[in-house]
Amino acid sequence: MRAGVIAVQGDVSEHADAVRRAAASHGIDAEVVEIREAGLVPDCDVILLPGGESTTISRLLREEGIDEELVRHVREGEPVLATCAGLIVASRDAKDDRVDTLDLLDVTVDRNAFGRQADSFEAGLDVDGLTEPFPAVFIRAPVIDEVGGDVDVLAEWDGDPVAVKQGPVVGTSFHPELTDDARIHDLTFFPAKAVAPDADVEVAE
Ligand code: GLN
Repeated sequence: MRAGVIAVQGDVSEHADAVRRAAASHGIDAEVVEIREAGLVPDCDVILLPGGESTTISRLLREEGIDEELVRHVREGEPVLATCAGLIVASRDAKDDRVDTLDLLDVTVDRNAFGRQADSFEAGLDVDGLTEPFPAVFIRAPVIDEVGGDVDVLAEWDGDPVAVKQGPVVGTSFHPELTDDARIHDLTFFPAKAVAPDADVEVAE
């Protein structure tokens, strides 16, 4: 499996580790490609759109011409995991002219909405499809405020959606790559197989 981590800015190596771990748990070797220019996305099976600064990430994606390749990747039904600033970039509208959103997920977001209350916190989240709570790290995280009809809410915090899925795209307000728990990556890239943490369970194909 070839995994592309968008590496124009943000937390790249943690996502690379997490996707390798998720793949390894299924006996699959993930080759990770760092993407800073156009031409690489079409050869990737899955894409990670990391956290960082959404204004910078969206500007660089547009300047490099990577934005259109991401839209095409999703149109072709290929998976994307978009986290924090990545979720903001993947949204339909971030209500901020400095962010050119890609509309990969039919949600609107409020940038830094959690950040104003507390810069960073960790919470045990109940996530649809996972049997045990997920240790979610929120860092100046966006709130998801409007969710379209085709979007499934996978997790909420304080009444607001913080993890969503639409077709092959999963978006999280939090940073699943900052713990050693790769279940969100697993759930995104191996949806039929994600189970309990470190579970030694055979799953029917
Ligand atoms: N608040 C940042 C933004 O608006 C996102 C923070 C993050 O990715 N940790 O881009």
